[in-house]
Amino acid sequence: MAAMTRPLRPLLNRRLAGFGTTIFAEMSALAVRTGSINLGQGFPDTDGPEEIREAAVRALRDGRGNQYPPGPGIPELRTAVAEHQQRRYGLAYDPDTEVLVTAGATEAIAASLLALVEPGDEVIALEPYYDSYAACIAMAGGTRVPVTLRPRDGRFTLDLDELRAAVTDRTRLILLNTPHNPTGTVLSRDELAAVAALAVERDLLVVTDEVYEHLVFGTAEHLPIAGFPGMRERTVTISSAGKTYSYTGWKIGWITATPELVGAVRSVKQYLTYVSGGPLQYAVAEALRLPEAFYEGVRADLRAKREVLCQGLAQAGFGVYAPAGTYFVTTDIRPLGETDGVAFCRALPERCGVVAIPNAVFYDHRHQGAPFVRFTFCKRTEILQEAAARLKGLAPNA
Ligand SMILES: *Cc1c(COP(=O)(O)O)cnc(C)c1O
Repeated sequence: MAAMTRPLRPLLNRRLAGFGTTIFAEMSALAVRTGSINLGQGFPDTDGPEEIREAAVRALRDGRGNQYPPGPGIPELRTAVAEHQQRRYGLAYDPDTEVLVTAGATEAIAASLLALVEPGDEVIALEPYYDSYAACIAMAGGTRVPVTLRPRDGRFTLDLDELRAAVTDRTRLILLNTPHNPTGTVLSRDELAAVAALAVERDLLVVTDEVYEHLVFGTAEHLPIAGFPGMRERTVTISSAGKTYSYTGWKIGWITATPELVGAVRSVKQYLTYVSGGPLQYAVAEALRLPEAFYEGVRADLRAKREVLCQGLAQAGFGVYAPAGTYFVTTDIRPLGETDGVAFCRALPERCGVVAIPNAVFYDHRHQGAPFVRFTFCKRTEILQEAAARLKGLAPNA
């Protein structure tokens, strides 16, 4: 019997058309094929503290977390998260009702958007944005409304008038990210106060991705927007262990918010992963209690690496936006006589054996991001030095 014929239909549902593969897969494959130094994807090339890894081993051996942990996360970790928010920021959260452990920040973002966004709602996001935001807004049936960070005075800056103008009657929430990947911008107290005032005035929710909260440099200070007047009751704060403790493979994240918001996000989360990373949750609970000296050490190490890479990039002829936070630096390739970051990044491995990511992929308005290229410095110093030496070959007068 002849097979029934149906009209051909794309396998991937329409909401996610265009989200087929990420640039990271292409660039990482290019790195392997050309033997290049991969400064594209942001994962450290050395693991975090030994004692945290050992805490995970102990939990595995002792049979803690090897069976389904509690849905909201183990109490030890929820308590450690609440204590961290209190100690660092003076924000009080009840570990039983106001903390939810997730499969990394990635699941926290997805569950928050799926929980809080109705089809047709508008979601304002700072452009360029982390690649999962656009996909998750699309999965939720929302409409994304980018507000573009623009270079001004050596930093990618949020234009508060543009933000205000982007709010409509359909706006449901503002999706923030500070410290900001890929630009390295850390929103200032004044900027956050203005965003907060707008959210209160227009009765908006804020979902804020703060996974780089500990990775700030110089005079930059990370402030959680949940601490601003009127914000605690309308903010879902997201963080994660991956970046802070250099265990990006563990995927232990969390949200802090009111019981109502946590309840909504948990309703979705329970059907995404239900739970994850049982024994690792015990280890992260210990990590959150590391003394301040640990965080200072992480920052000092990254600050030195940032110098190595930023100097190398400047010497190679790039325009460099030295980041105030994160472990990424955004560069401008126009001083090198280039304008198309995608073409530049595709050619860079052959030209000098280094892989970077074109910021254009983080924009809806791709032309806005065309001349910008992102490099990570969460790699060993000798690797960064070697990358800097290779990149020098690009300098117009080299
Ligand atoms: C890495 C990253 C995440 C994902 O965090 P996980 O805990 O690994 O899921 C989320 N947001 C931003 C901005 C990131 O850079």
